Amino acid sequence: MSFDSINPATDERVASFPETRPDEIEAALARATQAAGAWRVQSARERGALLHKVGTILRGGRDRYADIITLEVGKPVTEARAEIEKCAWACDYYAEHGERLLGDEPAGIAEADTRVAFLPLGVILAIMPWNFPFWQVFRFATAALIAGNAALLKHAANVPQCALAIAGVFHEAGAPEGLFQTLLVRAPAVARLIDDARIHAVTLTGSEAAGRAVAAAAGRALKKTVLELGGSDAFIVLADADLDRAAEAAVASRYQNAGQSCIAAKRLILVESVAEPFLERLTRRVKDLKVGDPRDPDVVMGPLARRDLRQALHEQVSDALSRGATARLGCQIPDGPGNYYPPSILDHVRAGMRAYGEELFGPVATILRARDSEHALALANDNRYGLGASLWTGDARRGAALARRLESGSSFVNTVVKSDPRLPFGGVKASGYGRELGLYGVREFTNIKTLWVA
Ligand code: NAP
Repeated sequence: MSFDSINPATDERVASFPETRPDEIEAALARATQAAGAWRVQSARERGALLHKVGTILRGGRDRYADIITLEVGKPVTEARAEIEKCAWACDYYAEHGERLLGDEPAGIAEADTRVAFLPLGVILAIMPWNFPFWQVFRFATAALIAGNAALLKHAANVPQCALAIAGVFHEAGAPEGLFQTLLVRAPAVARLIDDARIHAVTLTGSEAAGRAVAAAAGRALKKTVLELGGSDAFIVLADADLDRAAEAAVASRYQNAGQSCIAAKRLILVESVAEPFLERLTRRVKDLKVGDPRDPDVVMGPLARRDLRQALHEQVSDALSRGATARLGCQIPDGPGNYYPPSILDHVRAGMRAYGEELFGPVATILRARDSEHALALANDNRYGLGASLWTGDARRGAALARRLESGSSFVNTVVKSDPRLPFGGVKASGYGRELGLYGVREFTNIKTLWVA
């Protein structure tokens, strides 16, 4: 079976790539094992030198890589370029801070030289999604490689060109053969890979369903997993919030990448007294969003990445509309080629509607109204996901206190949820477990080893 690159803006199949054959998988596993053996004895500084080169290549080829993202995902080209730059930033960050993040920690026990060392696990299998097809991979790979591991990538089936280009970046940087490899395989091949003794741990960024399947296979094989799964982040606007700033931020967060971001502001929870003035500001801004050909630098929203994703989104919207929600803006599939869906606002969403509890992976803001801040918090936490949350208030101290009570892996006050190489990223509840990025992310795929020298 082949892997097709389909342009979501035009529905055209632009390229096709053969699936990695079983004998090629076998050879890749052998190369990865060998590379991991040699890489683990390098110092963090030596490993960092490679990451610096990778970052330089990404910056130098930024526009070319961004064009591949735009072609396969439909992401506006300006956003795609920013994605490549963020990958280069992560490369530099770990190159510069790897030694500090991975250095031994003296345990301070008086009777012996005791310390904790952070040693590599071996070969890590990464299963990645298409929505940030470079960033998701680099977010994992920079940390895993600086920690001394080798990586095998199974990317999403709809981004084969991105998958191959990323392997090409490492090759061009002079990475040891086998250190970072792409396998073009489908989901059923993943369980066999997880079972293979040459794979030591697994990371998946993707849907809850994929997370459950991968965690079950890894559980049977007794291998460590990090799961970065779906999210339905709350964006809470309290009565004393700066409504202009909040509305502007909500638009940026919800409609970026046509709403296909795990940490998008998906549920806008508005305290009743400011709901209408906030919605007026929001609606005005959303109407102004320029939708169209993602190659146009002035366009801020392109199509959804796949036809089936648009259909699934519209079914969730239709369910809400049939149960009493209202379409304040958009909420209809347009005619014409490509997987376009208009920037939409779905008002009066309530418990019992699919849009209340499920993740909406597209450009639809769901509006929930709360009596007061306590009710807003209760609504935010009444959800199976727990990735990020954003809370807007004029009282930052109170905001910080409320933010701690949100059931999420991260909470941001008066700004949008974002990932940053300097800070851990991940979720609780059905959003998964484990962390990427920062000190905690870099140590996930290490053997946290106690050394006691008497
Ligand atoms: P998906 O269908 O779960 O796909 C993600 C990856 O998992 C793909 O490589 C896919 O391969 C693979 N996969 C799917 N089912 C699998 C199975 N049963 N066994 C092994 N691998 C499997 O996710 P998506 O719909 O493309 O991506 C959107 C989801 O990812 C959303 O829920 C979003 O919130 C989440 N996400 C989370 C984060 C985070 O950091 N927490 C970041 C981005 C996205 P195929 O393509 O071959 O099916």
